[in-house]
Amino acid sequence: MIVDFHTHSSASDGALSPEQLLKRAVDAGVQHFAITDHDTLAGYLQVRESPSAKRVGLVPGVELSCRWAKSTIHIVGLNFDPDAPEMTSMVEQLSRVRRKRAKTIADRLAGVGIPNALEGAVAVAASSQIGRPHFAQWMVDAGVVTGMNQAFDRYLGNGKVGDVKAYWPSLADVTEVIVASGGEAIMAHPLKYRLTGVKLRAMLTDFVASGGTGLEVLNGRQIDADRRRLVTLASSLGLKVSVGSDFHKDLTYGAPVGVAVDSLNLDNSVWQTWLASK
Ligand code: AMP
Ligand code: MN
Ligand code: MN
Ligand code: MN
Repeated sequence: MIVDFHTHSSASDGALSPEQLLKRAVDAGVQHFAITDHDTLAGYLQVRESPSAKRVGLVPGVELSCRWAKSTIHIVGLNFDPDAPEMTSMVEQLSRVRRKRAKTIADRLAGVGIPNALEGAVAVAASSQIGRPHFAQWMVDAGVVTGMNQAFDRYLGNGKVGDVKAYWPSLADVTEVIVASGGEAIMAHPLKYRLTGVKLRAMLTDFVASGGTGLEVLNGRQIDADRRRLVTLASSLGLKVSVGSDFHKDLTYGAPVGVAVDSLNLDNSVWQTWLASK
């Protein structure tokens, strides 16, 4: 079976329109799918009634930004009620947070001699939920840096001048909203936060206490040993497992849409529950 519970469309920082993304999923033979844009449901809402949505078993999805201690954390919400007032107001709050954050990022860039970034990034983002990749793209287009990686390495990445995380809601708030909306709250890419083993466990313990139900044991291109470690961690915490490509665009070394799960020996997966209830 082929599934994918972590993908991005042009409603946030992905290159493909929601409909193009669904077509990729159809072509890849995906049977259970989610579009999990950063802090917006716009992409999902645009295509939820389309024939391809049915073909790929589209469930509501989102990737919400939040904070835990000094880290920015991402929680994937799956199969929630997209019209639940808790969810609607959380994504509205996060849209406001992102606009305010964009202004702070631009002010900080101006402070290091890079003016006009807000206008630039807003133009790149157009109607998408604005984020650092739009700043990075503008910096490339404006000739400030030679590529996206350089933009993140020098200005936007973890700990750099444009890394503004003060405004995100707490991990507990975001997790509770997903659960209150009837969905599964999945800890996205647990190994990308670069937490020590002790801190990762502390973070996941708080996540479980807030109602978190799942752990993403496979995200994009990843070595088998990481998946095995995460499967063990999930089972020790009583969490279900989820998987996703985290597809944003075609990249030579990136993961394509669709994850073949039969050979991965995953029990207690989030999608098993949905299959059983169908
Ligand atoms: P934001 O949602 O505004 O915090 O931006 C984070 C997004 O930037 C991630 O979801 C990635 O898609 C992207 N990103 C993070 N690091 C890099 C990088 N080094 N190069 C390109 N894109 C990146
Ligand atoms: Mn992204
Ligand atoms: Mn993420
Ligand atoms: Mn993602």
